[in-house]
Amino acid sequence: MTVTTDRLPSYDEAVAAFDPVIGLEVHVELGTASKMFCGCSTTFGAPPNSQVCPTCLGLPGSLPVLNGAAVESTVRVGLALNATIVPWCRFARKNYFYPDMPKNFQTSQYDEPICVDGWLDVELVTEDGARTVRVEIERVHMEEDTGKSLHVGGATGRIHGADHSLVDYNRAGIPLIEIVTRPVEGAGAQAPELARAYVTALREIMRGLGVSDVRMEQGSLRCDANVSLRPGPEAPLVTRSETKNVNSLRSVERAVRHEIRRQAGRLTAGERVVQETRHWHEDTGITTPGRSKEQAEDYRYFPEPDLVPVAPDRDWVERLRAELPETPDARRIRLLDEWSLSEFDLQSMVNAGAVDLVAQTVEAGAPVDAARKWWLGEIARVANERGVALDELPITPAQVAAVVALVEAGELNDTLARQVIEGVLAGEGEPAEVVAERGLAVLSDDTALLAAVDAALAEQPDVAEKIRSGKVAAAGAIVGAVMKATRGQADAARVRELVLSRCA
Ligand code: ADP
Ligand code: MG
Ligand code: ZN
Repeated sequence: MTVTTDRLPSYDEAVAAFDPVIGLEVHVELGTASKMFCGCSTTFGAPPNSQVCPTCLGLPGSLPVLNGAAVESTVRVGLALNATIVPWCRFARKNYFYPDMPKNFQTSQYDEPICVDGWLDVELVTEDGARTVRVEIERVHMEEDTGKSLHVGGATGRIHGADHSLVDYNRAGIPLIEIVTRPVEGAGAQAPELARAYVTALREIMRGLGVSDVRMEQGSLRCDANVSLRPGPEAPLVTRSETKNVNSLRSVERAVRHEIRRQAGRLTAGERVVQETRHWHEDTGITTPGRSKEQAEDYRYFPEPDLVPVAPDRDWVERLRAELPETPDARRIRLLDEWSLSEFDLQSMVNAGAVDLVAQTVEAGAPVDAARKWWLGEIARVANERGVALDELPITPAQVAAVVALVEAGELNDTLARQVIEGVLAGEGEPAEVVAERGLAVLSDDTALLAAVDAALAEQPDVAEKIRSGKVAAAGAIVGAVMKATRGQADAARVRELVLSRCA
């Protein structure tokens, strides 16, 4: 297989010639304590095959029992996505063989999903302000996750070239929901941004509902991105590709952008787009072919005989609807007011994925301005450097609030606070521990500061003379020297006072 990227048209050329249509399938692992059809624990990171039982291993004679908490979470997600909760639905068996699927079928919902016909409005930033695109949701259905294969001994971690494979069934049977959009038309050149904004908005909703920890890097939210290119906005839909398991927000946007360029290259060269799944490669930023979908696979779906149909009680559904938390949009409007921010400031927080984090930092006691400053400044810089989302960094709102509190108490200045944050991100512990370990407290002990001030004055006698003759501005040079000598640990304002009093 040869992959050439040099002949790819530019993105602008691609969207000038074709109209992109996208469709997103998002899998979310629910945060229930136990699995979908058995009592096994769902805790992440347990030793391999320590969270399994006859039911999730598909042993003969075992029977599934549906997890009520998972149904409740799915209904709440459906309601939050403006979907209809059907009066009656069933599970189906999706039959196929794969080593990480012990039952040889996945218990899933097929033609009778629990939620249908929803929508989610997504905001896009354009040159002339914000623009709202309504993403229609075809269905939200329940299913179970598969186990995990580990291919050992090869260079790539893929099955090709591996010596042997191991399989861990802890994940087999963890409740999943799949949220499937209808084809999204009308985003034009903003299709990649829309894909990212949609997944971001979904994630915010899931987090608000508390149904999942939605951590893309741990795979609890995974996105398959379908892309097709038609000649123009009025043309009928054409063949799509499906890029599987894209696992960060940034990658969703990049993968769609790449697919648009790749397909445009093929179409321009007179080749056709093949219906297939594709793999996304984070490092090279391209997709490569996976499984062909030219022939529809026969999964021999049939209704699951071991589970009774699900008929959500209407009153219960209405109760869940009434108890839904404030929507992210409503909260945004409220925060705009409470935090006295401009639309622009709030939008930049939304784009950075910082709204929740700032809100939680404020709840933990920090002033809004300080919370915004650290999340959108130093911490955003590190996130960018590492290519991850803000909430994927190992620092919590409570820790940021603790740093802010230390600054407000005068125990840290901004330079030191930056070092404390760096320490927390490096896994050195809580802010107070980093301060102690690295010896980062502001020097407010006047005796130590005076010694440093005197040394600096002695080193620059001409400057000292200027200050003494009334040129107060010259004090800056001495303050700078003291800050340097104390590696940023001095309180600059206090140093200045001491310099002036020494030269008075
Ligand atoms: P599959 O089983 O192939 O994954 P699904 O129905 O689960 O099929 O999902 C198909 C996804 O692809 C949906 O999100 C749908 O909106 C989207 N889709 C369908 N046709 C197109 C198209 N022509 N271009 C882009 N996306 C499409
Ligand atoms: Mg699908
Ligand atoms: Zn089990």
